[in-house]
Amino acid sequence: MIETSTTPLDGKCPTGPIETRWARHKEHLQLVGPTNRRKYNVIVVGTGLAGASAAATLGEQGYRVTAITYHDSPRRAHSVAAQGGINAAKNYQNDGDSVHRLFYDTVKGGDYRARESNVHRLAEVSANIIDQATAQGVPFAREYGGTLENRTFGGVLVSRTFYARGQTGQQLLYGAYQSLMRQVDKKSVNLLTMKDVLDIIVVDGHARGVVVRDLKTGKLDAITADAVLLCTGGYSNAFYLSTNAMKCNVTATWRAHKRGAFFANPCYTQIHPTCIPEHGESQSKLTLMSESLRNDGRVWVPRKGKDTRAPGAIPAAERYYYLEERYPTFGNMVPRDVASRNAKYVCDDGLGVGQTGRAVFLDFKDAIERLGKEEIARRYGNLFDMYEKIAGENPYQTPMKIYPAPHYTMGGLWVDYDLMSNLPGLFVLGEANFSDHGANRLGASALMQGLADGYFVIPYTLAPYLAKYGNKGGVAADHAEVRGALEGVAQKTEKLMSIKGERTVESFHKELGNVMLDKCGMSRTEAGLNEAIAKIRALRSEFWENVRILPDKDATLNVELEKAHRVADFLEFSELMCVDARERNESCGGHFREEYQTDDGEAKRDDENYAYAAAWEFNGVGADPTLHKEPLTFEFVKLTQRSYK
Ligand SMILES: Cc1cc2nc3c(=O)[nH]c(=O)nc-3n(C[C@H](O)[C@H](O)[C@H](O)COP(=O)(O)OP(=O)(O)OC[C@H]3O[C@@H](n4cnc5c(N)ncnc54)[C@H](O)[C@@H]3O)c2cc1C
Repeated sequence: MIETSTTPLDGKCPTGPIETRWARHKEHLQLVGPTNRRKYNVIVVGTGLAGASAAATLGEQGYRVTAITYHDSPRRAHSVAAQGGINAAKNYQNDGDSVHRLFYDTVKGGDYRARESNVHRLAEVSANIIDQATAQGVPFAREYGGTLENRTFGGVLVSRTFYARGQTGQQLLYGAYQSLMRQVDKKSVNLLTMKDVLDIIVVDGHARGVVVRDLKTGKLDAITADAVLLCTGGYSNAFYLSTNAMKCNVTATWRAHKRGAFFANPCYTQIHPTCIPEHGESQSKLTLMSESLRNDGRVWVPRKGKDTRAPGAIPAAERYYYLEERYPTFGNMVPRDVASRNAKYVCDDGLGVGQTGRAVFLDFKDAIERLGKEEIARRYGNLFDMYEKIAGENPYQTPMKIYPAPHYTMGGLWVDYDLMSNLPGLFVLGEANFSDHGANRLGASALMQGLADGYFVIPYTLAPYLAKYGNKGGVAADHAEVRGALEGVAQKTEKLMSIKGERTVESFHKELGNVMLDKCGMSRTEAGLNEAIAKIRALRSEFWENVRILPDKDATLNVELEKAHRVADFLEFSELMCVDARERNESCGGHFREEYQTDDGEAKRDDENYAYAAAWEFNGVGADPTLHKEPLTFEFVKLTQRSYK
């Protein structure tokens, strides 16, 4: 039986006209003077777009920052993989865009499960991000006349996505990285690479540090500070196969959760519609084909099942352009949750293509005829090359085959408007927090949010906390909480090494992923979620009795041990995902409960009972968590049945 707190959780959002909330809030935030900033130590975990931008900006402001990553270089953060683009309400196309429209599209796109105040702030600062990145030299695509070019992404009717071919994340990350390295050079940022954060140190109810394991030597260290920022990315790898880098994980946020930070909306995950389909048992990673391709590619399947003709030999009348037919207004540019579900439906109906029947075509023939091959190559050349290398087919000649895959997680640690979790001193940025996307994220909005948090929000909202609670004499290295956290990680590591069972870490991860994809993936049912919880518990017990880690040494580079820590956390966290999905008796965005759908198969929300963010409190592994509800109120966007028809 889930216990629900009767005290509503307060996001501490400003009130009054939405257009001026952020400006008024900033005006009243307490400041730390320039000469005092060097007295404060701040830990930033993660050097992706959110972490690198935060560390660089706080370093520039004069704080003493320690930036930590488990990679050998900040440039390897998963943000480097982002392809399609970054949104901003610049209205360069003069096509009707505005801050309000970006705000509206994002609230609607998230199926009315995000906070209005946060989303409006995001839309406001979006324009600053483009200016910042351009000033850093990020090579955004340009029109012939030199102005920045835009394209459209799903769920919107304007072109507001800035891009650098199919390498937008990489180019933005290099911009943030060079700013970060400038601060490293100036010694305001101490960069620690190859360090895995395995616990959060909490002293007197405040986050005051982290425990890190050196990945090359196995040595454990405690690093203390006045505040900790987690910028550790998303948890899509709970599904094992995903478009995320294989190292992406939930460890830092989950261990913070076990220290008291609430985890919000863990069941809100995004299954991206345009990925290269799974093609074998031994695959460990899936590849995204950017959503930008849907600007020019048309999605279809043969009208008749098991049609073995070459796609080019199937006449137009025998093709089912199912998105264009079902959603005439948005067509192929419907949001991701809608596109993914529809791909599943047509494949469930036996219309899927390819060897497994779990794929649909993404066809560029018409666009090539209309625009020419060169223009298509200019827009998507590197994506086409990548597809050909992986799939062995030339997409200029044959339609791509695509299928949905786990990609992004809207859930994350709960934060208030200032990006602070309920654990004082612990701030959470980027994909690691739950803040801005509700139940479904629109394409090109993750890069926007990570950089908004790092460049433009935290530099303001951290100061009041530091001014009030920071620099209280620091935390001594032999403080009981520091020693306790170090010992806890050492014991867990020893336990993992000592099991010496029969199964590989990978095999547990894969089995868990299969359960999650099947029961907590694109669609969910109460019975399926109960089944998943039972399976996860059994698998978790077996893991702690039967996992084998080779090499069997801790004091060396041991990739299996790294993975074992992460998979141990996924085995606990996945249960919370299922509990959250079971508790939310409605469908919204990426959370599709089969019991709650409209007659034509769309997500059916229940605003009366579920217009809240679900923030979970940890009560022990396998014990029922406590549910805290943050009510969501909509003053500026009218709640309606989301329609893209
Ligand atoms: C293939 C792909 C394409 C995408 N394309 C787009 C796009 O076109 N537009 C868009 O808006 N979004 C896109 N996204 C989403 C977007 O890339 C991510 O949401 C975003 O980059 C996340 O940034 P981040 O800084 O929050 O986290 P990340 O970039 O994931 O960085 C996490 C950082 O945390 C560190 N870290 C994590 N755990 C620990 C730990 N325990 N100890 C130490 N360090 C740790 C890592 O080393 C890393 O530095 C895409 C995602 C994928 C998978």
